[in-house]
Amino acid sequence: MSYLVLARKWRPRRFAELVGQTHVVRALTNALASGRVHHAFLFTGTRGVGKTTIARIFAKSLNCEQGPSTEPCGQCNACRDIDAGRFVDLLEIDAASHTGVDNVRDLIDNAQYMPARGRVKVYLIDEVHMLSKPAFNALLKTLEEPPGHVKFLLATTDPEKLPVTVLSRCLQFNLKRLDVEQIEGQIAHILDAEGIASDGPARRLLAKAADGSLRDALSLLDQAIAYGGGTLAEASVREMLGSVDRHRVDALLRALIAVDGPALLAEVAALAELAPDFGSVLDEIASVLHRIQVRQLVPETGERDGDSELLAIAQSVEPELIQLWYRMALEGRSELPMAPSPQVGFEMALLRMLAFCPRSGAGTPVASPASQAATPTAGSPARGRGAVEAVGPSASTEPRSMTGVPAAHPAADAGNATNAGPGGHDSTRSAAGTA
Ligand SMILES: [Zn+2]
Repeated sequence: MSYLVLARKWRPRRFAELVGQTHVVRALTNALASGRVHHAFLFTGTRGVGKTTIARIFAKSLNCEQGPSTEPCGQCNACRDIDAGRFVDLLEIDAASHTGVDNVRDLIDNAQYMPARGRVKVYLIDEVHMLSKPAFNALLKTLEEPPGHVKFLLATTDPEKLPVTVLSRCLQFNLKRLDVEQIEGQIAHILDAEGIASDGPARRLLAKAADGSLRDALSLLDQAIAYGGGTLAEASVREMLGSVDRHRVDALLRALIAVDGPALLAEVAALAELAPDFGSVLDEIASVLHRIQVRQLVPETGERDGDSELLAIAQSVEPELIQLWYRMALEGRSELPMAPSPQVGFEMALLRMLAFCPRSGAGTPVASPASQAATPTAGSPARGRGAVEAVGPSASTEPRSMTGVPAAHPAADAGNATNAGPGGHDSTRSAAGTA
């Protein structure tokens, strides 16, 4: 028997097996239970969150030979054929490859005939926003008053592109991206059922890399199992994803905090030997900086993050500096494609962070006249924002903005921390806005 990819093998066959999307399931099962089922549904959401899966389960619920039910039997011919994707009265159309008006005309002509085997003819039109304008117009009339034996299930990743006339004729459900815990839970469940050994950090890495899509998670899981020779271990998953051990990120941050240039470059060189994806290393640095900042500014939330390394860093670095570094990590990432090589781009991003370290003697004369002149306003929110904005590629070539930033720290030490706080929050927003 040929190997069945996990995403297909573990495609949910019942509403109860679905991960997440409880709001949609409740609405659909209520409609089925009451017998009042709308004739057109629109499922929106990013790829791999369950749009077609839900549509298929819904089609089974309507067509199960045991009678319409929220719990289709899964055993009868109709259920089995729908699961296998060969049920004649479930017509799946990929609008991305059938955009023309002729395709829609065929579909509409066909809709007037009674179902061949089932109770209800279900049209599942995926990526429906790809239909051409004439195709939409051809669809509208049928969508408004379809024959009683027809249900339309439309799915799209991009509802903004749908004509209002189509939107207004459908019951719309927005499927949510799955969070890391939901994906991680499903990965653990599948590995357990498949009898595959794994460790927690490996599962977590995959769940994060899937970025909200369960289908992507299971594709990655397939790859990782093959890559790891039948098991799932953190080291091999990292290698596969091109991501980097958290300890390496900590080592980089420690070198920065110690303003230890040689140690920093040695860490970068050691890292380069692993041939990582430097962009995702910068992502990892940015996300560690985010957690550090939460520890610093909202400690009551951060306490749940029982990471002692993180706590040590949080206590030894000014919150404003974390903001700067975060911004530099994002900028470094966006500049990577323009860098002579990814490693050079990565190294420059870290050297830029080093250049802004408060105790860095060489490039940042803290006691210069320019920075002394800046101290009176250094702790104010406006100043804090200005300092962060000065980090842009054009501004950072200007010597004054270089010296202005370290000067903010003595002022913050002198008791202006409360003033600096709001500045930090503002710059969070501005950093996110320009990223
Ligand atoms: Zn059935």
